Amino acid sequence: MDANELFKTALGLQPPWEVASLDFDLSKRRLDIRVDFQKGSSFPCPVCGVPSKAHDTEERTWRHLDFFQHAAYLTARVPRCNCDEHGIKTVDVPWARKGSGFTLMFEGLLMILVREMTVNAVARLVGEHDTRIWRVLKHHVDEARAKQDFSMVKTIAVDEKSYRRGHRYVTFVMDLELRRLLFGTVGRDGDTLAAFVEDLKQHGGQAEQILDVCSDLSPAFIKGIRENLPKAEITFDRFHLMKLMNEALDAVRREESPSTPGLKKTRYDWLKNPGDLTQSQKKRLKGLKSMNLQTVEAYQMKLLFQDLFEQTNPRAAKVFLADWCTLAHASGLVPLMRFANTLQGHAKGILNWWRARISNGLIEGMNSLIQAAIAKARGYRNPENLITMAYLIAGKLSFFNVPTLAGLPT
Ligand SMILES: [Zn+2]
Repeated sequence: MDANELFKTALGLQPPWEVASLDFDLSKRRLDIRVDFQKGSSFPCPVCGVPSKAHDTEERTWRHLDFFQHAAYLTARVPRCNCDEHGIKTVDVPWARKGSGFTLMFEGLLMILVREMTVNAVARLVGEHDTRIWRVLKHHVDEARAKQDFSMVKTIAVDEKSYRRGHRYVTFVMDLELRRLLFGTVGRDGDTLAAFVEDLKQHGGQAEQILDVCSDLSPAFIKGIRENLPKAEITFDRFHLMKLMNEALDAVRREESPSTPGLKKTRYDWLKNPGDLTQSQKKRLKGLKSMNLQTVEAYQMKLLFQDLFEQTNPRAAKVFLADWCTLAHASGLVPLMRFANTLQGHAKGILNWWRARISNGLIEGMNSLIQAAIAKARGYRNPENLITMAYLIAGKLSFFNVPTLAGLPT
């Protein structure tokens, strides 16, 4: 077998394509593989598939997988055929997709690498600009997403995530049953739900099929859900409720600490579960608890509030919630009274938990995947890149058109 034949076989080239020449330049650390077609060959029109002879050709070059430690490139005259119906069209080549400067095998390698490291790191490793890598990534993610079927989705969670030091937001919609990312978009207002419904329709779904939504108490999300998902019942995320409870507790502590120096820097002592406290934290809390403090009263209310989700049925939970709110109002502590008002205004969605049993805790694993995506996209100005990375990591996509690379881990 001569070298041209070896490379033809290794590249998987089929007639009429063959390797015409190999040019290896050690000083440039580069291998150029010239691919050509046999004289007189016909090519199918890319629109209708009717074969015709090459009208003329255009030379193109694609980066391929490295040849040992040397960069390898394929160059070919790509024929343009003259179809009776569609006129002059550039034919498809089997080793690359239209418009890409990389072979499909090289793109397959990139798709594996971006799962393992940041796009910046991949760009450095292969010596390409990161914008080219993002373009490849986005193409394959969009293509794989386009084939996804959302027609069976019934139960979703809506969650906002901050990126870039907390001042910019993206909203993610997740499928709580199949535990996959369905949709991501920039912003965190009610319009994000309208955008989700548009995307749902493009994936064989419709707004009416969504029956349960887990959300935080953001008025924008609540409004967006009511306006865009007519059959959906909202369940407020219990972890978000706990967060609000902790914020109310901390507001009481902050108000009280100027007159009680012992409260300074104890924020996390009060927020932790009693079982998770260190010995020194326990001792400090014990000392504070012996004093007649508002913070201690708010702390007791927090421990009591945690029991809400221990209630075994919705009726008991409803009574418990009403009692807790009565106690909060009786305490006279303004942050607790405000929180009680919030709870009373959202009681239906809070009590829905006993029916739907959904929370964002169901998707903890996916949340950490999305956080990883945010970390991987860090340093990029474009939040679309972040969303693309999140789809890749948490979207459960199938990449039919990216060749599997024998011998490389997938
Ligand atoms: Zn045609």
